Amino acid sequence: MFENKENRTDLSTLGEFGFIEHIAKSVSLKNASSLKGIGDDAAIIDNGNKMTVVSTDMLVEGVHFDLAFHPLKHLGYKAVTVNLSDIYAMNATPHQITVSIAMSNRFSLEAIEELYVGIFMACERHEVDLVGGDTTSSTSGLIISITAIGTADKEDVVYRNTAGVNDLVCVSGDLGGAYIGLQLLEREKKIFVENPKIQPDLEGNDYILERQLKPEARKDVIAKLKEQKIKPTAMIDISDGLSSDLLHICKQSDVGSAIYEEKLPIDVETFNAATEFNLDPLICALNGGEDYELLFTIKQEDYEKIKSIKEVSVIGHITEKNAGVSLVDKSGSIHPIKAQGWDALLE
Ligand code: ADP
Ligand code: MG
Repeated sequence: MFENKENRTDLSTLGEFGFIEHIAKSVSLKNASSLKGIGDDAAIIDNGNKMTVVSTDMLVEGVHFDLAFHPLKHLGYKAVTVNLSDIYAMNATPHQITVSIAMSNRFSLEAIEELYVGIFMACERHEVDLVGGDTTSSTSGLIISITAIGTADKEDVVYRNTAGVNDLVCVSGDLGGAYIGLQLLEREKKIFVENPKIQPDLEGNDYILERQLKPEARKDVIAKLKEQKIKPTAMIDISDGLSSDLLHICKQSDVGSAIYEEKLPIDVETFNAATEFNLDPLICALNGGEDYELLFTIKQEDYEKIKSIKEVSVIGHITEKNAGVSLVDKSGSIHPIKAQGWDALLE
């Protein structure tokens, strides 16, 4: 199955996506019902009637969250949200989740109940049932793995690999907020650790803190697209950063893209906080992860309809593959886009 057994290969030479591609190469789907396997936001299982849509995501203490500033209630909410976001990114509707937890006895029942308060809040908001999971102990930190299950009609499913030349590139909400929120939380934690008498100064930053601690999955945007009878030609949710996720769409669709700096949606709070941190807001919007917005492409003829959805910005268009994937800055200069988002194995 795997060649090259003699040598030892560092995982960091592959990175997260290289590793996934490596595994995917050894998979051949045997069941006719396995309509879509590895490679999209969720797998699609064709049981004849509605499609079943399945996605799983794991959050690991010290890698994805820091309990010093991540309240357990928010963490529960976020753990569900990031999974549901993948179901929406297939243009599907989530119905169930399972929740698996590895924890140590450092936690009290009351603490874990808090986590579940957040989980239930997200379930209620998205009309999803908690139907199972697994519980085990952990000697290192808290680990939460959630699987989300949804449905869609076959003709409604939207994949990453179906963007067409001249399609418009759209994004929901605004970008970079979750990343800059994390910078703020990490700065305040560092100050607190060095001098516990200094209370964290988080005032005036509610929006970016919420973007990091309590992101939303864009159920509302999927509903509005349906309302306007717009079916995206390709879609992904932005978990790793706009650059990285646009590259996923382009690579898998075998196309290029041009997006425009002046069109990128950046909230004023994100802009100001980035400036305060001496960071370029544009770089935060391109490479900051965890925004959980939807990045999708539509046919040009849907332009008038998309303009009526205020949560969506048109940021560029799809080109032939040989034009590459690039950002056109405010002065008109063209910059190739590289993936610099979150890569779990390069940390
Ligand atoms: P997302 O960011 O949308 O959750 P990922 O980048 O985590 O997507 O995963 C991309 C694809 O790779 C998905 O189809 C996912 O199910 C698959 N995948 C990720 N890790 C593994 C693994 N260890 N084994 C098999 N498939 C995996
Ligand atoms: Mg995704």
